[in-house]
Amino acid sequence: MKINHLGVAVKNLEETLKFYHETLGLPLKGIEEVADQKVRVAMLPTGESKIELLEPTDPESPIAKFMEKRGPGIHHIAVTVDDVEAEFARLKEAGVRFIGDKPTVGAGGSKVIFIHPKSTNGVLLELCEKHD
Ligand code: ZN
Repeated sequence: MKINHLGVAVKNLEETLKFYHETLGLPLKGIEEVADQKVRVAMLPTGESKIELLEPTDPESPIAKFMEKRGPGIHHIAVTVDDVEAEFARLKEAGVRFIGDKPTVGAGGSKVIFIHPKSTNGVLLELCEKHD
């Protein structure tokens, strides 16, 4: 199971890209809006993985609520799975707690679902279906 990406909550995508893209020099794969999560997303490939910058587009966005409590910073870790529906069913059976009751479509069109931090020792963990 590989790390697909690290999700980072940011207040302003363009301001944050000045560091990650322009200063640090990571390539920028693109910016898109994920309406489901009420965020704008920038993906920056780092070898086999990526850094995902997440800017809320609405005060009700889960990312906005996260930053109200904890401020900007690492929000989640995403791992790649072959079949998100199958992993969801398997882990649910094992007693793992999820956020939401079915996978949704995340950035880049991947099927995703989040595991609740109560089941992972405090880390919001995203299962992200392999997709190219
Ligand atoms: Zn993510």
